[in-house]
Amino acid sequence: MNPISIFCPVTNRSVGTGIETDWSTFFALQPLRLRVRCPDCGGRHDVAVGDGYLARSESGADGGRPDDNPRIESLLARLPEN
Ligand SMILES: [Zn+2]
Repeated sequence: MNPISIFCPVTNRSVGTGIETDWSTFFALQPLRLRVRCPDCGGRHDVAVGDGYLARSESGADGGRPDDNPRIESLLARLPEN
């Protein structure tokens, strides 16, 4: 299971939503919107799941992630360099 993360529109940094799922569920959830209490700026954000990304799990496992999906690459490309 990997945590769904979003980009804070205030600080533009990635923040976790506290929701963990796998890649196939993540893609199924993309049209949905999440209301997230942001730990970065303290505000609430109403964001589409598809505007976020699925972070690597704490164990480092990346279960079910398709290696050759261009959509994933475009999402990962939005991650900050660090
Ligand atoms: Zn925020």
